[in-house]
Amino acid sequence: MKTVQDYIRTIPDFPHEGIMFRDVTTLFADPRGFRMAIDQMLHPYAGLHIDKVVGLEARGFILGGAIAHQLSKGFVPIRKKGKLPGATIEQDYTLEYGKAVVEIHDDAIQPGETVLIVDDLLATGGTAEAGIKLIERLGGKIISCSFIIDLPDLGGRARLEGMGIDVQALCA
Ligand code: 5GP
Repeated sequence: MKTVQDYIRTIPDFPHEGIMFRDVTTLFADPRGFRMAIDQMLHPYAGLHIDKVVGLEARGFILGGAIAHQLSKGFVPIRKKGKLPGATIEQDYTLEYGKAVVEIHDDAIQPGETVLIVDDLLATGGTAEAGIKLIERLGGKIISCSFIIDLPDLGGRARLEGMGIDVQALCA
């Protein structure tokens, strides 16, 4: 039987020369692959209390929407600066070249709510760390961060675990 990893393809030299980009659109496009990924991502959280699922732009929206629906919980997006219509708080973080800013609606998480963060891939952990900071600033409690792919050589898992955050991933 095929595994989740079998549905993911690697595109060389995207978006820059020398980058091996993990393309999960082929996983999302396959009905068995997509269902398998969602089911496996949910598995560690059976029986845990989760109030909100937060997805990181953009592929985290696809996964997070499906996971929130499955849990019958609300979904909250963290978006790049300038995309959310209501009042927001923002957090900057460092990219390979330069900085980026992400935002969350300031009323999207209530103090004390438990949150699952979802994205497709963990590399340096900078994007997830910015999301964690936003949620914690609103008083949310992070239950875990869930990814399809973890690239451990890039240090993201160690970075998040060093912050006391649980990290789950389906493949490397
Ligand atoms: P980090 O902030 O951990 O360095 O990078 C993770 C973020 O960049 C995630 O939001 C992820 O979607 C995106 N990303 C970086 N490299 C890849 C890749 O090879 N494939 C995919 N699908 N996303 C990537």
